[in-house]
Amino acid sequence: MPMRAEDVHYCPRCAAPVVLQVKFGRERPVCPSCGWIFFADPKVAAAVLVEQDGKVLLVRRVNEPFRGLWTLPAGFVNAEEDPAEAAIRECLEETGLEVTLCGILDIRHGREHERGADFVIFYRGQVRGGLLRAGDDADAAAWFAINGLPELAFQSTRYILARHSSHVENISKSF
Ligand SMILES: [Zn+2]
Repeated sequence: MPMRAEDVHYCPRCAAPVVLQVKFGRERPVCPSCGWIFFADPKVAAAVLVEQDGKVLLVRRVNEPFRGLWTLPAGFVNAEEDPAEAAIRECLEETGLEVTLCGILDIRHGREHERGADFVIFYRGQVRGGLLRAGDDADAAAWFAINGLPELAFQSTRYILARHSSHVENISKSF
């Protein structure tokens, strides 16, 4: 979970108790001893929309919230990591499939649950190798026709599929 200002009590550099001061336009925890300022940074995730033979690649979540519901292969971007590399890595970990990315589809802002991302960068990908096998944060990985989707975990997943799937015209009214 991203560290919030109210969770910061001591300076990580010199261990002095922090105080709240207005810095760069808003109140932030500041170390009165060494001048360290806490900036709350967004958590960033990367996801990939992979379509093949008219179907979309989805994974079933192992973790709460939304355990057992389906979403696009996705995960957090590590510090220093290229989000494109994160999308490729997460897809491989969760589905066993190696993908090549063919562009950014969208960037969505807004955390959908407490441990979720603040931003998700969505890529389009194509399978270039590997064998379909669920792993990591997913206990199932499968291809679904766009008019036969399982229950989806996230609003952003629904949004991306509705807006960016190549087969969007087939999406049922209930979607
Ligand atoms: Zn300090």
